Order: sequence, then C-alpha cells, then structure tokens
Amino acid sequence: MATNSVNSPNVNNRSSHNTDTNDGEIITTLTKMQTTLDNAVKVSKNMRVDVKKSIDDQIELLKSNIIPQVKILISNVIQAQNKESAYRKRITELELSLQLKNQAESDKLENIEKMILENKEALTKISNQGSDINKKTYAKAATINIGRQKAAPKNSYASILYLKDDEEKTKTSTDALQVARKLVCSKPAGTAIIANKLLSNGKIMIFSKDENSKVNLDNLINASDEMISEEPKRQNPVILLKGVPKEIDRDDVPKIIKDCNQDIANACENEDSITVVYLKTNRKEHLVNVAIKVTPTIRRIILETLDRNVSFGFNLVYAEDASPVRQCFHCLSFGHTQTKCPVKEKNKEELPQCMHCPGKHLKANCPEKNKKVICCNCAKQPGTSNKQPENINHSPISEKCPIYKAVLSKAISKIDYGY
Ligand SMILES: [Zn+2]
Ligand SMILES: [Zn+2]
Ligand SMILES: [Zn+2]
Repeated sequence: MATNSVNSPNVNNRSSHNTDTNDGEIITTLTKMQTTLDNAVKVSKNMRVDVKKSIDDQIELLKSNIIPQVKILISNVIQAQNKESAYRKRITELELSLQLKNQAESDKLENIEKMILENKEALTKISNQGSDINKKTYAKAATINIGRQKAAPKNSYASILYLKDDEEKTKTSTDALQVARKLVCSKPAGTAIIANKLLSNGKIMIFSKDENSKVNLDNLINASDEMISEEPKRQNPVILLKGVPKEIDRDDVPKIIKDCNQDIANACENEDSITVVYLKTNRKEHLVNVAIKVTPTIRRIILETLDRNVSFGFNLVYAEDASPVRQCFHCLSFGHTQTKCPVKEKNKEELPQCMHCPGKHLKANCPEKNKKVICCNCAKQPGTSNKQPENINHSPISEKCPIYKAVLSKAISKIDYGY
C-alpha cells in the first residue's frame, strides 16, 4: 500500500495508535474525495487523455503523500499534547512535594526549638544513653550510687519534728515550731539550722546545714520530753506516660488507668495512689506526656507486670521512671526549671548558659563548637578546672558529670521506689 511506504523520519508504530479520532475524520474525507475522483474518472470516458492523466496524478499524490503527511502531523500534535500534560502533572507534583518539604522543615525547626525549651534534650539523652540508670531503673541505680554521694545541696539534711503526747492532734505546726525553737536555743550543742517549714498534722521540717548538725539536732530533740524527731518520709515515685492522646483530660487520667488496667486497679489503696503531677509536650502534636505519682507497688506493676505498657483503652502508652532531677535549661543548674529560674528572673535579657562551653549563648551559636565540650557546672567548682581538666570535658546534662550524679543519687534517695 502506498500509505505505508512513505518515507518519513517521524513515523513510528506507537504514534499511529494515537491518530484514531481527528485523523480518522480527515482520512475519511480524503478517501471520499479519492473515491469521488475515481468514480469521475470511470464515468468520464470521453475525457481527454491529458486531463485524465493529471487527475490520476492528483489521486496518486493524495494516496502516496498527503494522507500519510496529515497522519504524521496529527500524530505529532497528539504526542506533543500528551507530553505537555505529563509535564504539567509533574510540575504540580513537584510544587506539592516542595510545599510539603518546606512545611516539614519548618515543623522540624519548631520541634527542635520546643525540645530545647521543654528540657527534652536532657530527657532524651537520659532515656537513649543505654546507661546504667536506664537499664537498671533509677531505684536500682540508687543502691549503687548512694554510698558515693558527697555533695550537700541545700535542704538536704532534713528532720521531721512533732510534739509528743498529741494524739488528738490539737497542736498546730506553729506550736511545734515554738517548742523546737525553745529546745534548740536553750542547748544548741552543735546544731546548725538553715531553714524550717510548717507541715500539716502539726509537724515541722527542719533543715540542718550538714549531716553532723542534723544528728546533733535529732539527738537533742529525741532526748527531750516534749518532741520527737524522725526521718522525712520518702516521696512516691513519678512515672512518665509517653504519648497520651491530648483530648484526654488530665483529671481523667487516673480513672482511665484504673478502668483499663485491672492489676493497677487492684493495687490502688485510695485517691492518692495515682495522681497527675505535670504534663510535658510530646514530639507528636496530638499527644502529650503525662507524669503520674504512684505508690511503689503500682510503679512495680507498671514497669514489671505490664512491661511498661499501660492500656488507655484503645491504645497502649509506654511508661518509664521520670527523671527525679530537675535541671534548668536556662542556667543549667539543678533544683528548678527554667520557668522559675532565678538567673532568668534577675536578667530577662541574658542569654542561656551554653551546653558546650562555659559561655552564655545558644549551643547552636557556640564559638567553641569545634573544641572539646566543657561542663559549665564542673568548670565553676573551685579547683576542679585547674587540677584535672579531663574531669570537665563532659556535657553538663550528662550522667558523666559528677555534680549531676550527686544530684541524681540525692534525688533518688528521697524517693520510695519500693526497694
Ligand atoms: Zn536556672
Ligand atoms: Zn558555648
Ligand atoms: Zn560536670
């Protein structure tokens, strides 16, 4: 056939499939023309030879040249249209993915900022380090560390004092304070009291300067006929529930835990067996970390019987011991968080303490970035920096820090983990 033998570089088998509709109409029209001409030739037998010849040539031209050319043109146009729409689709896809990427990047930045603000870095470090503390739990670590603690942070040597023979609880804590003051002042004998606190139930808490002073105070009080001194009761442990759905009201958390975990419900003695103490942001927008104070028995059920998975009905929430150390992420010292930082309160303009060097700036802007890390807390200790420089090359938020270690074991000793 003449159409197939045409010589054109653009012709290919694939494109001919794309030429069905418009192409078909044109071909039909042209073929009709051809048939009409053919018929005309057949009927006009009287036509002069040269006219007939010219018509034959035209028909041949149509057959051999125009029809295939039209076919190619149409096929090219369709191909171009297909290509264009594919490009458009790709551009839209790229625009969308760029948009998503930008969003993800800005989300990431926001999260990093949040993490720093919420002391996340420290907690993540603690839980990711695979350290002794993490593996053995705070309580077991306590039994290892307690013997070594040396530092004496304030409020660390406390005694609980209350009046003897007051079964009816008629005396107030102010009464107890008056009697204690009278006893100590009449015979100070090596006591060194730095603070006191009125408690409920007619009790008071007395803070001695050091261990010796505390022993002297305890002996003095217990030798009297009026008062008794005893060790402060240890606090219940705090468990961090990581990733509780945000829509759950914090006040409902204890009830939900009891409703969904029969073992815990059985171990609850009263309303105080589970109490929510604070919330922390979770990396995921729709979740929140909930810290609950529980009895040592419930702690053990959560960590051992339930293998750290607390049911919330539709989902399990991972649970772990909350760090008992409060470290401020503005000044990096211990015992308070940045919302109550005395350094920040004094000077709101002051930049945060760097985690990498003793300077004050964000860690990201640290000019000493390429040098070894220096613990700002250990560097501040008199004598430490000059004598053993290697002892200050650790992060102030790491467990390698001796100050952190001391604070941690002190905090652990005040908590009743049930061991
Ligand atoms: Zn602070
Ligand atoms: Zn720095
Ligand atoms: Zn240190």
